[in-house]
This record gives sequence, C-alpha cells and structure tokens, in this order.
Amino acid sequence: MLAPPLQRLVGELAKLPGVGQRTAQRLAFHILRASGEDAAALAEAIRDVKEKITPCEVCFNLAEGPRCAVCQDERRDPDVICVVEEAGDVIPIERTHEYRGRYHVLGGALSPIDGVEPEDLKLAQLYSRVENGVREVILATNPTTTGEATALHVAAALHERAPDIAVTRLASGLPVGGDLEYADEVTLGRAFAGRRAV
Ligand SMILES: [Zn+2]
Repeated sequence: MLAPPLQRLVGELAKLPGVGQRTAQRLAFHILRASGEDAAALAEAIRDVKEKITPCEVCFNLAEGPRCAVCQDERRDPDVICVVEEAGDVIPIERTHEYRGRYHVLGGALSPIDGVEPEDLKLAQLYSRVENGVREVILATNPTTTGEATALHVAAALHERAPDIAVTRLASGLPVGGDLEYADEVTLGRAFAGRRAV
C-alpha cells in the first residue's frame, strides 16, 4: 500500500528495539513531513555514529578517535578501574559524579547458555591492564544472573593473578534483575559509595 521508499523506511525503523510496525509507520510519516534539512540531519547523524565512533583502544568505551574521553582525562585516577558490561553502562555511572577512576567495558556478560564464554569478552585486556599498578577493580556488572556470574568469574581470576589488588562489587540496593542503565542516580551513587570487597 505504501510507496516502496516509504515502505523501506518503515521496515528499517521497525528493526529498532521497542519500535513496532505502527510506531515505525508514525515515525516514517513524521520524517516524510519534516523539512529536507531535518531529515538530512537525521540521516547524517546515523551515518556519523557508524563512521566516527569506535571502541577505545584502552578500555573499549565508545570513543571518537583512538581513546575515549575518560582515558584522555588526566585527572581521572588510572589506578582504579570500574568494569561494566556495555559502554551504555558508563553513562549512568558518570551521572552519579561518585566515580573518578577509569573504566573497562567487557562487551557483554558470561552466559554459557547463549554461548558467551570468557574469551568472547575483553577479559585478557583487563588482566593485562591491572598489571600496571592498579589499586582497585570495581565490578559493576548488572545485578542479573549473568552479571553476577561474570563478577564472580572476574573476581576469582583477579585474586589469582594479582592478589594485591582490591576487588569490590557495588553494594546491594540496586534493583535485582535490572540493568545498571535503569538505576537512578541516587541509588547507583549509594551503591558505589558502599561497595564491598569480593
Ligand atoms: Zn577509554
């Protein structure tokens, strides 16, 4: 029923998470009505993130260039590393303003059922980073089954490789089964302040 170019846009939008066929259609019509300038800006923004954003060569956070903004910031403590599952988890932690160290993005959580094994995550890179005088590693994986399993695995590996490093986990109080992404700043800030050794 729709003209093929419009149908194609609806099809692409419907692939986005949380966007069903009807929302995709509404968005497509909105884009169709928008000015040529606005529509071009949207298309360009999508192209730009794919071309310009790459993983940071040190911590695998999102970066424009070889290193992310946190790794480039000299004021950030290089001796404390906060381990998260996804780059998106850095944002809520930064919003708390509780944390002044660096990050390490694993690229997921261990889940043998889904075929995610230790070698699929950026674990070897983490272990080689901690060899350079790191004082504390904070495990801020999600409070989910896979996030907890990942934290236990990493804690055990760190204790074995670098017994002098403090390994901590965020305090409880985060919604169990939820993602860090959805935690509010106050709760997450408190979880950070109250982290405990594991
Ligand atoms: Zn980085």
